[in-house]
Amino acid sequence: MVFVDLRDRTAVLQVVIDPRKIPQANDVGLQDCIHAVGIVRERPDNQKNQKMKTGDVELETVQLHTLAKSRVPPFVIENDVKANEELRLRYRYLDLRRGTMQQNIILRYRVVTAMREYLNKNDFIEIETPILTRSMPEGARDYLVPSRLYSKKFYALAQSPQMYKQLLMVAGFERYYQIARCMRDEDPRHDRQPEHTQIDIEMSFVDEDDVFTIAEGMFAHIFKKVMEQELRIPFPRLTYEQAIEEYGTDKPDLRFEMKIRNLKDIFSNKNFPPFKDKKEIRGLVVKNGSKITRKILDEFSETAKKTGLSGIFWTKKEEAFSGSIAKLMDEEIAKKINLEKGDLLLISAGNDKIFSFLGRLRNEIAKELNLHENGFRFLWVTDFPIFEIDKKTGKFTASHHIFTQPKKEDIEYIESEPLRVRGRLYDLVCNGNELASGSIRNHNRTLQERLFKVANMDKNKYTMLLDALEYGAPPHGGIAPGIDRIIMVLAGLTSIREVIAFPKTTQAQGLLEGIPDVVDPKQLKELNITFE
Ligand code: ASP
Repeated sequence: MVFVDLRDRTAVLQVVIDPRKIPQANDVGLQDCIHAVGIVRERPDNQKNQKMKTGDVELETVQLHTLAKSRVPPFVIENDVKANEELRLRYRYLDLRRGTMQQNIILRYRVVTAMREYLNKNDFIEIETPILTRSMPEGARDYLVPSRLYSKKFYALAQSPQMYKQLLMVAGFERYYQIARCMRDEDPRHDRQPEHTQIDIEMSFVDEDDVFTIAEGMFAHIFKKVMEQELRIPFPRLTYEQAIEEYGTDKPDLRFEMKIRNLKDIFSNKNFPPFKDKKEIRGLVVKNGSKITRKILDEFSETAKKTGLSGIFWTKKEEAFSGSIAKLMDEEIAKKINLEKGDLLLISAGNDKIFSFLGRLRNEIAKELNLHENGFRFLWVTDFPIFEIDKKTGKFTASHHIFTQPKKEDIEYIESEPLRVRGRLYDLVCNGNELASGSIRNHNRTLQERLFKVANMDKNKYTMLLDALEYGAPPHGGIAPGIDRIIMVLAGLTSIREVIAFPKTTQAQGLLEGIPDVVDPKQLKELNITFE
């Protein structure tokens, strides 16, 4: 008997072929495409396979047709793939045959279907917006497309439908959504793709609570339909300032507690040189932290010093206090900060960089001690600053995008103290990942122009939006959950490439397509492009 594991999108089925009746059974090779006709029968009890979804049955083959032979594949197509990612991307159509990849892509389809279901039910309509648009940077570099008909002129690929969705609000489509492809020519990063997909949502006559309610409802629906779980809504909220102060990041992972503690009052007057005259003295109380080894602490301390901080100082509470700041400790302090037997206290001192450093340390320790509880912990982070300083130019730039309305009480500081201006900006965060961003927009031209000016942006590029704001533009706001990242988090994966059918590498190459690549000189000529 010849046994073939026959796979389709739904499962693998054992196909049994008798080579005495069907001699070509002996020629069936791995990854051939076959058509088997037969009778599905129950397997004898001792041959049932619990590990297979179809393990109780098998197909007794009566007819067999080989529809197409396969070459020997360049890697073994199995769930637990051993091949390196480059090979998998080069032969993505084979990689996608693996059960795990099929599950990821099907999960993606089911989540997107649930999103559409929810929004359709809530009176939203799906509208497509252009991909070929004008170069209107929204915070990233544009991909440019040269025009053949208009020599030396360019289109740009849309970085998001931002401009159009605002125009749709002006046009009176007060509840819009779109599964939108966004193209941004940014520097490579491990979880970034030159093109990503988001579910872009915009609504008129709303404030933050309305947008949150829709997004929370949509996620609750996804969890119910796809994950078969009840998601607790509403999600908790933290302002940006609180998030940085308590978790050292604007994407806090709430699967474990361990907030950053302000220890300045307790330790600034201890006459301990590394803490002396430091703007910030902050630390972490690591519950049952005795397992953190000296080596790890030394490594962190080195990183802290490289960051410009005073290093990491620590004490463990056992019978007595041990560690580099044991002599600063007493029972009263321990009580104040809830440092109990077996706990570890880590402290650093320095400038504002302490927050992001302790935020990273917090995450590392949680990994080390396995502190993450199971499940999904969502939260909103709100009130982000509108501007930040661009590290390269030293000038003000929009921290998310410039179409955000400043908080009313901060409007007066737009020109005088830009960094103090908070926006009606929000992110949705889950398990330490930013899953969505959005804001309440400016529907007033003058205000929008003031923001462009501070961010050194050329308002003339955005004339179509600015003009539209002069024709009775309704107040509006929206959000854009990133689909790649959502699927990655729901599937418990760490790379977005695992949930995209045909991704690019971290270096923005398409290994399957062999792109970017040179083009025919004739094409360049038509576009009037020459190279030096
Ligand atoms: N257009 C924004 C983005 O792509 C999302 C939004 O503000 O709605 O990040």
